[in-house]
Amino acid sequence: MPDMSLTKNPMPEQDPQVRVTNFDEVALGYTDEMAVAEAGRCLNCRHPLCVIGCPVSVRIPSFIQKIVEGDLDASYEILTSTNSLPAVCGRVCPQEKQCESQCIRGKKGESVAIGRLERYVADRHNAKKAKEAVPVPASNGHRVAVIGSGPSGLTCAGDLRKMGYDVTVFEAFHKSGGVLVYGIPQFRLPKEIVQTEIDNLIAMGVEIVNNAVIGKSETIDELFEDGFEAVYIASGAGLPQFLHIPGENLLGVYSANEILTRTNLMKAYRDDYDTPLKRLHNVAIIGGGNVAMDAARVAKRLGDGHVYITYRRGMEELPARKEEVEHAAAEGIEFQLLNNPVSIVGDENGRVVGLELIRQELGEPDEKGRRSPVPVEGSNWVLPCDAVIIAIGTSPNPLIRSTTPNLNVTRKGAIETDETGRTSREGVFCGGDAATGAATVILATGAGKIGAISIDDYIRSKT
Ligand SMILES: Cc1cc2nc3c(=O)[nH]c(=O)nc-3n(C[C@H](O)[C@H](O)[C@H](O)COP(=O)(O)OP(=O)(O)OC[C@H]3O[C@@H](n4cnc5c(N)ncnc54)[C@H](O)[C@@H]3O)c2cc1C
Ligand code: SF4
Repeated sequence: MPDMSLTKNPMPEQDPQVRVTNFDEVALGYTDEMAVAEAGRCLNCRHPLCVIGCPVSVRIPSFIQKIVEGDLDASYEILTSTNSLPAVCGRVCPQEKQCESQCIRGKKGESVAIGRLERYVADRHNAKKAKEAVPVPASNGHRVAVIGSGPSGLTCAGDLRKMGYDVTVFEAFHKSGGVLVYGIPQFRLPKEIVQTEIDNLIAMGVEIVNNAVIGKSETIDELFEDGFEAVYIASGAGLPQFLHIPGENLLGVYSANEILTRTNLMKAYRDDYDTPLKRLHNVAIIGGGNVAMDAARVAKRLGDGHVYITYRRGMEELPARKEEVEHAAAEGIEFQLLNNPVSIVGDENGRVVGLELIRQELGEPDEKGRRSPVPVEGSNWVLPCDAVIIAIGTSPNPLIRSTTPNLNVTRKGAIETDETGRTSREGVFCGGDAATGAATVILATGAGKIGAISIDDYIRSKT
């Protein structure tokens, strides 16, 4: 009989007062007992709506039933048949907008905690697998290049290697992992989890070349000349957007990317690393997505003053994951909602002293059903702060499209593909944020899987 309790089994987490003083993971994961109890809430529906809500159609009731049966190996097999990075997705997917939003248990009470169970299965598997040797698939003699080592590139590389391809991943940064490493902070996604995935790929025979900026060190055409038969572009959408308001060039204005990269990749918060970051005091973040929440929570940990999220819509409309908003609020982040930035105010030395905002009201819903903010005339005010972090979105970097002739791009600068990941250039495939614009880890991972299948089809058709 399923457990009919209306609420999820709570996730143990670090106390908010303690966690704002460290970068350790906030959510601590289910114990075996908690996971079995939560899995017992699943009704194992005959027509599971949760699966429809999952962008890669993970067989959710099946993996959950294996937890109930105590067969975690089978549970992991089911998960990874459609999602290569369950330890990551269990932590960062917006489940409340995807699988959990559809779960039948959510109609009366809370949905099954699908994300927490996914994380549990993956963590148990990784703890055990660390002791086992990774099988190395035999080479089929065909070479494929992957550009970028984020979730899309890593998934595509892993799947192709398992099919026998000799895969080389070219990564611009000195560290692999894409946003999972340079963007999402340690306290939300420990870097060791991503490193385990990367170590497994290397053990399987995937070659990773770091500090290789394709378009600068080598072009895509030169990769073909070097003997690669296909290329998968997974270069993400790492170019920060700015507001183009007065004061954006003042000292103390950062893009979220800069703060997060300096903190995550260059360990600016540690005294034993030599990438300093100016001490933060009162900080205003502009934006309401996951990037804004991450920047705010990092600023809180690095600084000693108030940290504000300023966003032009209300709490209901914040695009960030619900859990991140709750965690941010518990950590003392202050929400200045229904406020739109007008200018950044500086002193005579060109340093930030405030953020000018104008209050907003919510008007009619837009085409996505979100109510549009309407400025309240004459309601301008200045929020005192000494740093402003801009987190309003990113777009694909133009380097690859500008160095690859005949590669079609969309109006927004993303690389144009069909549903199989094919681009306008023969042998060149693309997926993840580079093709969609900034999106989610699970979509990037799913695109990597599709890209691997399409590249396999393409190379087979040529031989
Ligand atoms: C701070 C932050 C928080 C986020 N939080 C969430 C979340 O909670 N949940 C969620 O689902 N999604 C989240 N996202 C979005 C998610 O991380 C991305 O959608 C996902 O990482 C995209 O994967 P990708 O593989 O396409 O690209 P990326 O992860 O961006 O990886 C691209 C890689 O390509 C490399 N590269 C770029 N150009 C070149 C070049 N010319 N040559 C070689 N290498 C190159 C980059 O250095 C990078 O390592 C977040 C994003 C950010 C920035
Ligand atoms: S909809 Fe909910 S209860 Fe039904 S199978 Fe999916 S997780 Fe289980």
